[in-house]
Amino acid sequence: MRHGSIPGAHGRVRPLALLGDPVLHAPCAEVTDFGPELAALVEDLFATMYASRGVGLAANQVGEGVRVFVYDCPDDEDERHLGHVVNPRPVEAGGVVVRGPEGCLSLPGLEAGVERYDEAVVTGVTVTGEPVTVRGTGFFARCLQHECDHLAGRVYPERLSGLRHRRLMRKAARAPWSR
Ligand SMILES: [Zn+2]
Repeated sequence: MRHGSIPGAHGRVRPLALLGDPVLHAPCAEVTDFGPELAALVEDLFATMYASRGVGLAANQVGEGVRVFVYDCPDDEDERHLGHVVNPRPVEAGGVVVRGPEGCLSLPGLEAGVERYDEAVVTGVTVTGEPVTVRGTGFFARCLQHECDHLAGRVYPERLSGLRHRRLMRKAARAPWSR
């Protein structure tokens, strides 16, 4: 990403991996190559996220099983958070647990109430290898936990149990994108 450019402006919109695609259900690999391909992947992630009107996107959602995610997400105070993290580590999650509506570009059109911590801190590096720490509260904390889950091979239905889980899986099975 060049300084001053709009994230995703040079990216390509990629097809999204959908629930059931094996790439979503396996842990992603650590990034070791910080070359131009990594910067291009981050651009593609932004382009794809914006095209789908998402607030976050993990690399395995475009079929690349590596530990990278991007976000452009408001918190509960409507402050905008924009960035990317390579090799993120959730270092802290705390505060109260809040059940709130959550969706995912890999389960288009669906939503469920998911319990998440109200505060989250993630450390990692940028595409150029600079250390970065991202702190989030409210909806943005939810986004950070959701994206870290993706890179661990988990999708949000796995955070549900009982009736909520069954109801969501029933809707997913009936969704037009489901095979
Ligand atoms: Zn998601």
